[in-house]
Amino acid sequence: MKLSEVNINELSPMMKQYVEIKEKYKEELLFFRLGDFYELFFEDGEVASRELELTLTGKNAGLKERIPMCGVPFHSVNPYIEKLIQKGYKIAICEQLEDPKDTKGMVKRGVVEVISKGSIVNLESLNEHDNNYIASLLDLEYLYLLTYADISTGELKSLSISHDIDKVINEILHLNIKEVILEDNTNMKLINLLKSEYGIEISFSKEYLTHGYENILNSVSDVRVKQGIRHLLYYLVVKELKDLSHISKAEVVNRNNYLEMDIHTVRNLELIETLRLKERTYSLLWLLDKTKTAMGSRKLKSWLLNPLRDKELINERYNKIEILNNEFILKDELRDLLYEIYDLERLCAKVITGNLNGRDLLQIKNSLGVLPRVKDILKNLKFQYNLNTHEDIYNLLEKSIYENPPISIKEGFLIKEGYNKELDELKSIRSGGKDFILSFEAKIKNTTGLKNIKVGFNRVFGYYIEVSKSDAKKVSEDFGWERKQTLTNCERFISPELKEKESIILNAEEKIFELEYNLFCEIRDVIKKDILNLKETAEVISELDAISSLAVCADLYNLVRPTLNDEFKLEIIEGRHPVIEETLKVPYVPNDVIMDNTTDILLITGPNMSGKSTFMREAAIITIMAQMGSFVPAKKASLPIIDKIFTRIGASDDLVSGESTFMVEMKEARNAIFNATKNSLIIFDELGRGTATYDGISLAEAILEYIAKNIKCKTLFSTHYHELTSLDKEFTNIKNVHVLAKEEGNMITFLHKVEKGPADKSYGIHVARLAKMPEDLLLRAEEILNTYENKAKKNIKHDEKVQLAMDFDTQEEDKLRAKLKEYDPLHMTPMEAINALFVLKELEK
Ligand code: ADP
Repeated sequence: MKLSEVNINELSPMMKQYVEIKEKYKEELLFFRLGDFYELFFEDGEVASRELELTLTGKNAGLKERIPMCGVPFHSVNPYIEKLIQKGYKIAICEQLEDPKDTKGMVKRGVVEVISKGSIVNLESLNEHDNNYIASLLDLEYLYLLTYADISTGELKSLSISHDIDKVINEILHLNIKEVILEDNTNMKLINLLKSEYGIEISFSKEYLTHGYENILNSVSDVRVKQGIRHLLYYLVVKELKDLSHISKAEVVNRNNYLEMDIHTVRNLELIETLRLKERTYSLLWLLDKTKTAMGSRKLKSWLLNPLRDKELINERYNKIEILNNEFILKDELRDLLYEIYDLERLCAKVITGNLNGRDLLQIKNSLGVLPRVKDILKNLKFQYNLNTHEDIYNLLEKSIYENPPISIKEGFLIKEGYNKELDELKSIRSGGKDFILSFEAKIKNTTGLKNIKVGFNRVFGYYIEVSKSDAKKVSEDFGWERKQTLTNCERFISPELKEKESIILNAEEKIFELEYNLFCEIRDVIKKDILNLKETAEVISELDAISSLAVCADLYNLVRPTLNDEFKLEIIEGRHPVIEETLKVPYVPNDVIMDNTTDILLITGPNMSGKSTFMREAAIITIMAQMGSFVPAKKASLPIIDKIFTRIGASDDLVSGESTFMVEMKEARNAIFNATKNSLIIFDELGRGTATYDGISLAEAILEYIAKNIKCKTLFSTHYHELTSLDKEFTNIKNVHVLAKEEGNMITFLHKVEKGPADKSYGIHVARLAKMPEDLLLRAEEILNTYENKAKKNIKHDEKVQLAMDFDTQEEDKLRAKLKEYDPLHMTPMEAINALFVLKELEK
């Protein structure tokens, strides 16, 4: 039965209330709170039952037929919500806004929150190492404006992107944005790509926030940026009913402050996940992440994805690493303390957005508890951080919150004795009552003489006296007990004395729960007032954690502090690829990358599998590590500040689908050539391989020439086209290097050592032999190769002959001419003339 087919007037009052609320939340699945359950009705119920594999039941709603209904228990609702969100649904949570006990008639209900993929705050599926971004994307015709926020950490940023759809997608993927809000659905190409190709949730909203959150809006000046913020805030605050008071400001991201990398580079260099398995293990982040807190881990990831361009800021990070490693005892102490700090950033968000419980408060307290010691260490290290230790909040929590609070905040056991007088009094009444129950049990055993009796409690009829079947007959009317329940083995009774005490105990208990809840809310509000300071503390801690992680790596992987030069020379002595080095079973062969200011391009030749691509990746990774503020895997490194890195390595997945690998390869090459400046770094691995040989060589050569003549940026270009190696004759800024391989018989050993000059041949068949191709196939390949090589030689011989003949002809002609010039027929005798003719004939032979 569909909701639209129902005559609303026939519905029961509660279902009328449901329909009124559902009217405003048509897109969402409405979780309608009924006592201990969230119920979903009509089509929502059908969807939930299908997607969550729950039974679809029916509810009497005043109509002839029962309406479809599906329910989930409120205390275990999260896994269900998560599952639906992952499947692309949005959820509206409708709560009872009044306590049913205090209301006559129907309780008021209302939606308190809408949850969508980009706005999850409290669910388990929130990866602690990752940000969960939701973004507004505005098309301003000449540029795109991306405003993105992570509600779980309170971050809000704005980024302008040139009016190019590939660039927008690149940024959205780069930031790992989960949900994008557009004004309308006019840009179908963008929508399809984001939604179908990359599984990003798309929402539509035309509205802009008109009032409130002035502090955020005032933190930026550009009206366009304000517009973007208003668009995002409307969606979050008005549509999704989020409280964002933990967000104090917006930050305008200036890409020019950071080393620019496109999504291909991040993927190709396996910075945050591996190319094939898409796993964090064996990525650069996996190697470098030695952080002790979740926020530190997120910070380190953001440093890796946004390396700096400011020399001073980079050197500041190097200095800190150096200090930490000199003061290694303090470093270890600091890291032990960091380990005790919980995810303060997300705890702050929980304070604001609800769902905070006693355990969270305890985590805040324990985290704050170590801050004074962290502060001392910072002082000893002479680090210029302004760390607030929040002693007042710590003391408040220390005084008030139990060491082992339950998950629920409505069932007591949250607040310590001594914190609140009224609460203590109620507790003593309750415990007095409980003592009474114990003595009552002893007393009735005595007075009745029944041995097998005990006093128990259940929610249905409170305290009762349980008597075994055999003793039940002995219960006399004189006891004044009333029979309540008969079970197989026993009977249960109640007595007036017991009931009287029960009401005192339960009353006290109810009051205790209520008071503890109120006190909890008061404490939460005190923290709420200080939330922005707490967030700053979280920021300091996350930075400290990230920097100490880099310091640990510097030690662990034998990294060195690079020098940053202004002469645009890139010199790496004995560089290593840190991840491969760590995972190889054999020793890694270090290599030098020497590109002084007269060398722009290194042309790298060598057999397949010799290590060309590793050599190039190593150079790029060292550059990125250096600019993120980390020491680098080398014996020595002097590096320029790079503004952008472009890579074209291996077969990458295409952003705009449906294009051939070659097309994608060319597009990426174009992107590099168009956008690179003199200060960029380009890595091209076997460019042009995707097309016919002559096409490939020609394109590769033209691209190299273009870079050598026009861009002159640092470029590493690997190739198996030997023809290209002669380019160094024409361009002094191109240098050849090759990766050594040792040939013994028909076997080849890779030495992975990079040397000056071009490689002599390409060893394809040797590599095929290493790959264990059938031997007869390989012999045949060698035969074919011989024929090709001989043909080539023959061609050369033939050509040489022709050339020689031509050279010869010219020489003979010259001699003939010279002789002819000597003769003067007017003054010759007939005999002399005939002799001359013979000489000429001789010369012509
Ligand atoms: P190419 O690009 O020339 O085909 P790769 O760079 O892919 O070769 O290297 C092939 C393999 O050789 C790598 O997976 C790695 O195991 C090994 N390798 C490459 N460079 C080195 C090195 N410098 N030291 C040790 N092993 C290396």
